[in-house]
Amino acid sequence: MIDLPELRVPPAVVGATTGGVATGTASAGAATGTADGEVRIGGLGEPGTVLLSGPGPGSGSESLAGHRARWGDLPGATGADVDDLLEASALDGRGGGGFPLARKVAAARDAGTAPVLVVNASESEPASGKDRALCVHRPHLVLDGAALAARALGAGAAAVHLHRGDAGPASALARAVEERRAAGVADPRWVLSHGPGRYVSGESSAVAAYLHDGDARPRFTAVPLAVRGPSGRPTVVTNAETVAHLAVVCRIGPAAWAGLGAAASPGTRLATVTGAVPEPGRVLELGGPPTVGEVLVATGVPAPPAAVLVGGYAGTWIDGAEAWQTPFERSALACLAASPGCGLVGVLPHGACGLTETSRLVRWLAGESAGQCGTCVAGLPRLADGLEALAGGRFHRRGLRRVEALGASLLGSGACGHPDAVVRLVRSTLDVFADDVVRHLAGAPCRGADHPPVLAVPAPFLPTAGPRPPEDFT
Ligand code: SF4
Repeated sequence: MIDLPELRVPPAVVGATTGGVATGTASAGAATGTADGEVRIGGLGEPGTVLLSGPGPGSGSESLAGHRARWGDLPGATGADVDDLLEASALDGRGGGGFPLARKVAAARDAGTAPVLVVNASESEPASGKDRALCVHRPHLVLDGAALAARALGAGAAAVHLHRGDAGPASALARAVEERRAAGVADPRWVLSHGPGRYVSGESSAVAAYLHDGDARPRFTAVPLAVRGPSGRPTVVTNAETVAHLAVVCRIGPAAWAGLGAAASPGTRLATVTGAVPEPGRVLELGGPPTVGEVLVATGVPAPPAAVLVGGYAGTWIDGAEAWQTPFERSALACLAASPGCGLVGVLPHGACGLTETSRLVRWLAGESAGQCGTCVAGLPRLADGLEALAGGRFHRRGLRRVEALGASLLGSGACGHPDAVVRLVRSTLDVFADDVVRHLAGAPCRGADHPPVLAVPAPFLPTAGPRPPEDFT
């Protein structure tokens, strides 16, 4: 176990070390309420951080030597040890769905032989930068975690999936793989995969499909990927932040790791803060957890904004004052029908128009579907038309009712969750900006008509190349 003095981890919850693996004492900090409750917020290299601890942003990628100096060698945990760590830590997925990694691993192992492991670092959310930051600055933490997950699965290889064009993470990971090979680290065979940069191409089934046949579109199947993926083999797709946490759990023990968060939300969590903040795109590590207000104060926003978009561009709007007091963790956000998702916190200032912002997001999201279900091909563009008409003051109450009915008809009708997420975004918009809706319906001037766009929307996805075979670091 390594020493993390800046963390001030309570000694009582730091686990004992057996054979290099920090085992912890409580069966689960999450379950037994070992959280120390201390709020920690920090960026890369700042005190109080765990995943982001170490060199600052100007230092580039951490070398294997630097990584080992801080964390020591990867402990010689067996697959059974890793299983225990996953169970005891209650480590949940950090890609959006929040599914416990222990359950995916168990399902894959129970399903048969030759499971496939894919670490999804493709970060499809345009405003999120957490996985990119980890892969660029802490590549060995990601690879350590992937190696541990591979041991738990009994997989001889592990793929790390990126978006094509993500040059920073790709070169940092490739360099890290070479360093590890030269140093003789006992790793699985690494495969670096580079898929298209479309929004839905980062969805789990699309990632698994791309690795199988080069077609990065979501696949609907009633059988979970972890039981049977596109190749017919059990396929575990897990997020880069999730496996980086596993590498930490293995060093400091599940109870100590869980104690860095709350009973219902173990461990720390990465977030990207964007919109009307001094430094849009800043990645922070949150422990405790802090309220959204505490996160915003730390990023230079001193008072509640008009609203906060939580979880991603297809996330949920929350009124600014309400969000300010809400802990940024799964159970508290669920009470507001929201979720941490990919960890995005988007700030809408007073004076901007939430309807206009959302209409731009919905138009972009409609263009980012895989175009293979009628729900997306016909439904989402019509939803975007409706939002634009509402934002532009060209709507009447009957039109609004048609938008609401359209949203209800789209729910649950796609092959993946993309349309559902867009509908939930629209519903939260109509709810949080209800006063603006009334004003727009009455044809009154929009308060934010002249406000510049707040949430940056990328250019529409244009395919630039066909599928490319993954880079196999045999
Ligand atoms: S619902 Fe939309 S994004 Fe999902 S698979 Fe169908 S067309 Fe693609």
